[in-house]
Amino acid sequence: MEQMDIAKKKDIRALTKEQLRTFFVEQGDKAFRGNQVYEWLWQKGAHSFEAMTNISKETRGLLDANFVINHIRVDQMQRSNDGTIKNAVRLHDGLVVESVLIPTSTRTTACVSSQVGCSLDCKFCATARLKRMRNLNPDEIYDQVVAIDNESRLYFDRPLSNIVFMGMGEPLMNYKNVLKAIDMITSPEGLGMSSKRITVSTSGVPKMIRKMADEQVKFKLAVSLHSAIDTVRTSIMPFNATFTLADLRAALEYWYEKTKSRITYEYVVWKGINDTQKDVNALVDFCKFAPSKVNLIEYNPIDDGAFQQAGNKAIDMYVNTLERNHITVTVRRSRGKDIDAACGQLANKS
Ligand code: SAH
Repeated sequence: MEQMDIAKKKDIRALTKEQLRTFFVEQGDKAFRGNQVYEWLWQKGAHSFEAMTNISKETRGLLDANFVINHIRVDQMQRSNDGTIKNAVRLHDGLVVESVLIPTSTRTTACVSSQVGCSLDCKFCATARLKRMRNLNPDEIYDQVVAIDNESRLYFDRPLSNIVFMGMGEPLMNYKNVLKAIDMITSPEGLGMSSKRITVSTSGVPKMIRKMADEQVKFKLAVSLHSAIDTVRTSIMPFNATFTLADLRAALEYWYEKTKSRITYEYVVWKGINDTQKDVNALVDFCKFAPSKVNLIEYNPIDDGAFQQAGNKAIDMYVNTLERNHITVTVRRSRGKDIDAACGQLANKS
């Protein structure tokens, strides 16, 4: 019986501030009460109605009778010997996603998930082995960021500085909720962070990249490219058969035209897959139309060795060719490998 009642109650953070104000007016209270509760829910991060100390007991009872706060719970926290922290995050329905805190000497970056599992089938990614269960709600994305901000203050004595949507899932396949979460993260009524410190990483969904460009979003865009040759890319990222490189490229040209914002490409160089001069030439051709940055990321093995990180010679060839073509390139080392917190390793092993 109690279960049924809970099922009927609405997640209060699915309401906008205006809807919350209307709720109170309909209950014969002041609209202003909505502002107070809204502040508790987002800025003050209340986990319960009980915690809302400047709200009368009667009003808290009313809220309790109508709503729930579906707060996430960090079930397990693992710390890497390089300082990286991985959170196993339990959602209200029992499903689990992972998020990661990555510290450097000057910043703390939160790597957050946007979906439970993933519907894409990238052959080198551990998350791909979990089928997509559902999209995360805006508050579930927001809560991951808050949890990491708290950990950053606690363990590193500074607030969170950057956010990357590079955890589990494809953010552009949960676009609406990701955008709502970013709105709250950047709002003065939420965390008040700057959009410039947020990066959304996508495998490349052309239609959604165009939509982002039309909406003039202010966060940064990163594209997981890994190959600029269709046959190669389709063999490792099968959705490339549908969202081909030509479509992706056209959408990115549109993005640059509208936003004038630099594009970052994530790229792993694998032995025998994309480690020849032909591969790097294709990459140069693909990205030279706009100011670009290529992050050569280290491969984090997830399996029996079907994929192997290419050696230094191939990496040097990439770096030299890109630099000769005036494309910014960085070689990234992995963080948190010992706790399976590195790129592509998030799969709820525990
Ligand atoms: N779906 C989004 C975000 C999640 S993946 C995207 O594709 O961008 C975050 C990054 O990790 C992507 O660049 C992805 O290609 C990369 N990645 C996945 N598996 C990896 C692995 N095993 N080693 C290194 N990087 C990996």
